[in-house]
Amino acid sequence: MSYVTKSPWVIHYDGSSCNGCDIEVLACLTPMYDVERFGIINTGNPKHADIFLVTGSVNEQNIPVIKQIYEQMPRPKVVVAIGICATSGGIFKECYNIMGGVDTVIPVDVYVPGCAARPEAIIDGVVKGLGVLAEKRAKLPAEIAEEKRQASEDAFGAGAAAETSAPETSGPETSGPETSGKEED
Ligand code: SF4
Repeated sequence: MSYVTKSPWVIHYDGSSCNGCDIEVLACLTPMYDVERFGIINTGNPKHADIFLVTGSVNEQNIPVIKQIYEQMPRPKVVVAIGICATSGGIFKECYNIMGGVDTVIPVDVYVPGCAARPEAIIDGVVKGLGVLAEKRAKLPAEIAEEKRQASEDAFGAGAAAETSAPETSGPETSGPETSGKEED
C-alpha cells in the first residue's frame, strides 16, 4: 500500500442486496482492516467523494438515487461495483424488478467479484480505482477544454440557426379583427 499516494474518500450505497457485501464494506473500516490508516475515509456526502462504492443490484426505485449520487460527485470520479449483485445482478438477476448490475445505470470502472466480496478484494478494488482516478485526472483538462469548445460551437450554431430561421417581418396588419356584433341602425 506504500504506493497509495492519495487519500481517497469513498461513498457507499447499497442497492438491492442481501446486505452481505455491505457488512464486508463496513469490515474494511473496523480495526481488523482499518483502511483509515491509508487515508481512506467513508463520507456521506457525494460532493466530498472520489470513489463510489456500490453494493447490490439495480432496481427501478434505486436508479434515480444511484444517478443522483454519481452526478453530485465532482470529476474525476471512479465507480467500484462490489460483489456479484452489483456487477451483474447476481442471484437477484431473474427477479421481476431487477434491471441488472450498476453498469446498467452509470459507468463502472472496477468490478470486485465475490458473494460476498471479501474485505481484501474490496480494498484491492479501491486501490485499482486509485489508478483509474489518476488516469482520469490527467485527462480532465483536455476533456474540459473540449466540452467548452463544443458548448461554444453549439451556442454559435444555435445563434446562426436562429438568425436564418427568423420569421419575415411583414408590415402592419391591414385587416382589423372581424366584428361580429350587432350592427347599429
Ligand atoms: S453478492 Fe452475495 S453477499 Fe453480496 S449482496 Fe449479493 S447476494 Fe449478498
